[in-house]
Amino acid sequence: MRKVRFSPLSYFLVVALILMIFWPMVDNLISDNIDISKAIGMARNGDIKSARFDGDRLLIEAEEGNGTKVYRTVIPPELQNSFYDNYLKDGVEQGKIEFTARSISKDGFFKEVLPYIFMTLLFIFMMNSLFRQTNSQSKEASDFAKSKAKLFNQNSNSKITFKDVAGLEEEKVELYEIVDFLKNPSKYAKMGARIPKGVLLVGPPGTGKTYISRAVAGEAGVPFYSMSGSEFLEMFVGVGASRVRDLFAVAKKNSPCIVFIDEIDAVGRKRGSGLGGGHDEREQTLNQLLVEMDGFDKNQGIIIMAATNRPDILDDALLRPGRFDRTVTIGLPDIRGREEILEIHTNNKPIAKDVNLKNIARRTPGFSPADLENLVNEAAILSARKGDIEIKNKTFEEASIKVLAGPEKKSTVITEDEKKLVSYHEAGHAIVTKSLEGTDPVQMVTIVPRGSAGGFTYTVPENDIYYHTKTKMLNEVVVLLAGRVAEELKLNDISTGASNDIERATKIVRLMVSKYGMTSEIGTLDFTEEGGNLFIGNAITHSKNISENTLNSIDKEMKKIVDECYQKAKEILTEKDETLEKMAERLMEKETIYKKEFEAIYNGNYNPEDFAEDKLNIF
Ligand code: ADP
Ligand code: MG
Ligand code: ZN
Repeated sequence: MRKVRFSPLSYFLVVALILMIFWPMVDNLISDNIDISKAIGMARNGDIKSARFDGDRLLIEAEEGNGTKVYRTVIPPELQNSFYDNYLKDGVEQGKIEFTARSISKDGFFKEVLPYIFMTLLFIFMMNSLFRQTNSQSKEASDFAKSKAKLFNQNSNSKITFKDVAGLEEEKVELYEIVDFLKNPSKYAKMGARIPKGVLLVGPPGTGKTYISRAVAGEAGVPFYSMSGSEFLEMFVGVGASRVRDLFAVAKKNSPCIVFIDEIDAVGRKRGSGLGGGHDEREQTLNQLLVEMDGFDKNQGIIIMAATNRPDILDDALLRPGRFDRTVTIGLPDIRGREEILEIHTNNKPIAKDVNLKNIARRTPGFSPADLENLVNEAAILSARKGDIEIKNKTFEEASIKVLAGPEKKSTVITEDEKKLVSYHEAGHAIVTKSLEGTDPVQMVTIVPRGSAGGFTYTVPENDIYYHTKTKMLNEVVVLLAGRVAEELKLNDISTGASNDIERATKIVRLMVSKYGMTSEIGTLDFTEEGGNLFIGNAITHSKNISENTLNSIDKEMKKIVDECYQKAKEILTEKDETLEKMAERLMEKETIYKKEFEAIYNGNYNPEDFAEDKLNIF
């Protein structure tokens, strides 16, 4: 419920209205009605002290006993002048009677009508303001069906243009066409060219899909209406469709402009599929979207941009020509891209001289732009907390661990037993990593809990990775299982601490077998869903026909690989038993050890004093 609020003005007007209605009555209340002859008598006697004409009434104040009393009588306007001349004039001239001619009969008409005009105006005004109030209430109700599109003001300083977008050179070239079209649509109209109506941006989370769309709008200097796919959907059927309609109505009024639908997979999922049968509301919304996209003219100056990281689940109707007929794929940035992104996000921050962005870029393969921005931001926060005046290289290193593994949970109380368990577990991961060929160097091993993990072994890839080989994937599985193996070997018991390791190992093995065709048993066949984004939703909707037999073989093959990897980890750690002991011991004592110390322990030329000042050294 909404409270109706009256403005102070309307209070005043109400009071004025009441006064106007009741004012004549005040006279009636305090006065006695008398005959005109009695009034004449009073005048003759010289009892009248004051007299006043008010419309067709005469109000007189007359002496009576010790005090005065007010009387009223009716005198028709045409007789008022003669009454005054005959009975009041002398007294007034002698100063005995105080006379006020509030109403002289000749403009009596005006005086009488004016209050009514005023009252009518007042009434209209009040009705009007009352209406306005109810109007705004019903407007609120219909706002529910309105789109919630956010408009980014291109004049504000949050405006971004292509120069704020690092890397992505090819993508920018492709999108520049759109920018040019938005800037001068007539140029293209003259050529009869059909500019794409919709551009779909595809890429993993955090790669800058939303960001580059805003940059397109900023570059072209047109309004940018942004809405997330899920914002169309509400509990009530039909709301989504009406929001789509509204969004396009707004866009048409403000063209040229960009309409941006973020996470379009929320509404654009294939119709008639998905869990739990059809989803009426979503399908209606999608249908409306398709209708609207067909509904506006090709050169009306509206470009629809949409972003998704699941293009494989989008309805085909969205992707046909005339709708989202252009797809721009955005991948993770390479080393140069990362350096540029770091430059963009550090250029308004005080960076210490010892920071080398190129180095940071080299050591952050697999970081998305969002991760990099987060890294810079975390470093800035850490520096501020420490009271530094600049962001130092060391702080960037600390921040990178925080970004990768979550914040340290120093307050968590761990028992000695748990500490021992985590120490062996992490030492297991680290030692196996080091002893396998082609793995990334271990930079840090810690048993301080971070995020959801009990401990953390930090390895940094040397180079960008574009392809995963079978050997690499197997190595990864061996490393993942090594934590569990160490627990088993050293404590004769196993814990739940390895559950995340097991999950990741299983995922890798499943992909090797059923997607990448890396086993001779199954052969080079892809059994994952089209577009194969892991196995999301796959187990439920088998669109490909996989025989029971094949499923069985896949399971068997996966188990065989995992068993072999487990065995391999066991072999390595059994052989390195002494190293494992020493490493776990050192971890329990120091909680965190860094690369040099780790390698010294591993190589057996270890002297604890050498590493008192050891620190992380990655960037
Ligand atoms: P997505 O929509 O793909 O999930 P965003 O567009 O939200 O990712 O990007 C996340 C953040 O990463 C942005 O806020 C921006 O600061 C940063 N970013 C992304 N791409 C770039 C880029 N090319 N250059 C600079 N910063 C970028
Ligand atoms: Mg986004
Ligand atoms: Zn582990």
